[in-house]
Amino acid sequence: MSSLPGLFLSHGAPTIPLTDSPVRAFWRGLKNQFECPKSILSISAHWETDIPSVSLIEKPETIHDFYGFPEQLYEQNYPAPGAPDLARTVASLLSKSGIDCRHVSDRGIDHGTWIPLMEMYPDADIPVTQLSIQAGQDIAHHIAVGRALSSLRNDGVLVLASGGAVHNLSGFHPGSDKVPDWARRFDDWLADTLARGDVDALINYRTEDGAKAHPRDEHLLPLGVAMGAGGDGAKGRALHRGFMDGALSTAAYAFG
Ligand code: ZN
Repeated sequence: MSSLPGLFLSHGAPTIPLTDSPVRAFWRGLKNQFECPKSILSISAHWETDIPSVSLIEKPETIHDFYGFPEQLYEQNYPAPGAPDLARTVASLLSKSGIDCRHVSDRGIDHGTWIPLMEMYPDADIPVTQLSIQAGQDIAHHIAVGRALSSLRNDGVLVLASGGAVHNLSGFHPGSDKVPDWARRFDDWLADTLARGDVDALINYRTEDGAKAHPRDEHLLPLGVAMGAGGDGAKGRALHRGFMDGALSTAAYAFG
């Protein structure tokens, strides 16, 4: 079996499934770009814990962790089975690399996971579990987490990191196609940095534009896991570039 990529998706706003758009079409076509995974490990920006935690839940609840969006989004359910065996493997791989990992049994899937999956795999028949991010740690830590998990890609596991290449809600203007200059500059810088596989530059991303693109860096941290999962020296291949609602990047990258 050929290996799956470490995949980073910018999940944009939760409204993507409601109307046709370039990013929605891209998500829908993604399943044709690589083989069908046996299971999915999602690393979403919307689950933060101090210590990496992975969910053993058998039937993950669909968590509607967003506010003020159209009612129909709160009625959506993504009934994919859980992946407790994968969760145990993740914990074991992390501990072999000297990274503590906890099991939890009450964590479902948040919108960073189910909104893209609903478009990518609408049948909801691929088992999925989530691994948390650590907002108190830097990108280097998240790259180390990804490296510890890179062998999963050869075992039919899709490592799906879901965050945002540019994510500053002060630049969120629903329906606007005006992209601020700082957002476009950072998005371009990131694409170039990933294409070169420049880990040091990524770790030190917090320039003036970087800090503006990420007031907190929880939406960028999953990218480190995808890059690490791609293996040593992995370069990021841009699969999609774009913006929505002003400053929300919809960029996506594959590693390895
Ligand atoms: Zn988000």
